[in-house]
Amino acid sequence: MNGEKFEGWREDITRQALSAQSLTDLQSVRHHWLGRRGKITEAMKELAKLSLDDRRLVGKELNFLREHATDLLNRCEKNMALQEESRQLEAESYDMTLPGIWPGTGLLHPITRTRRLIEDVFLRMGFSLEYGPEIEDEWYNFEALNIPANHPARDMQDSFFIDLPGMVMRTHTSPVQIRAMQRYGGTLPVRILAPGRAFRRDDDATHVPMFFQVEALVIDRGISLADLKGTLSTMAHELLGDDVNTRFRPSYFPFTEPSMEMDVTCASCRGEGCRVCKGTGWVEILGSGMVHPQVLRNGGYDPETVSGFAFGMGIERVAMRIFGIDDLRLLYQNDMEFLSQFGSYTGRPGL
Ligand SMILES: [Zn+2]
Repeated sequence: MNGEKFEGWREDITRQALSAQSLTDLQSVRHHWLGRRGKITEAMKELAKLSLDDRRLVGKELNFLREHATDLLNRCEKNMALQEESRQLEAESYDMTLPGIWPGTGLLHPITRTRRLIEDVFLRMGFSLEYGPEIEDEWYNFEALNIPANHPARDMQDSFFIDLPGMVMRTHTSPVQIRAMQRYGGTLPVRILAPGRAFRRDDDATHVPMFFQVEALVIDRGISLADLKGTLSTMAHELLGDDVNTRFRPSYFPFTEPSMEMDVTCASCRGEGCRVCKGTGWVEILGSGMVHPQVLRNGGYDPETVSGFAFGMGIERVAMRIFGIDDLRLLYQNDMEFLSQFGSYTGRPGL
């Protein structure tokens, strides 16, 4: 053993450590020199065979070498670990300026938006929402609303009957009136809005077998036609605009007396008269009236001391008016291209 040999080793260690490409490379360099059978370790074992003088000299050289190797490899490993970490971070990082994956947010259906608009108007007037079953007891759907079995109104409504005796797919949302009165148990005031589905055996350009209605009922002491007209005119202006006029025509419904239909200014001609409104300048939008005394009694209220008004309106008809849709069936064809025209991400809360 001599100094030149160790000088060669020193160069080898330095070169190998600095040219390592990975932590694994560095580990094998360390193993090669400092491992249990590494070159420096083995050389140290050989020291015992040397003379005392050589042992001192060579031992010193070997100690220097071992310190150099340990120190250099430690520093290289530390450096390499940092490099590998940053390489990994770079590989895992992402470009925040790239466009994201659009999750395909849905839009509210025009009927849902219209229903919420209507609810919004009435909630602000102090009404509360009320719901009832879609498969309804015939008593709630007909008798309680003053439509006895032999009443011509039952012919007017082609009902879907189901296998359960005495049950029917409700033909209107009006049974919710009776259920609400029972739930209120004679307390005053009753001020409810009942939106929901109704079912009739109709299917043509202006009727579908499943449709949406919204129903309102107000009962209190001293409720008059003036309250009805004021409430419905307010709704018409809120939904359709301040420039819309309303008019009330006498009509007939078994559950109201007197009964009225409300017309609003025709949207197509703004009241001038056109084919849509058959030259009248008006289109019918809802049926209403003062609650029939028998209906009040059926709901547990005394018509001698309280009175009330009610109305029922097709939501589709209002949606068509608000969104300018001219064919009712378009609302139910689930054509996304068509429906997405009426989507809104902004605007009033809940719409
Ligand atoms: Zn018109």
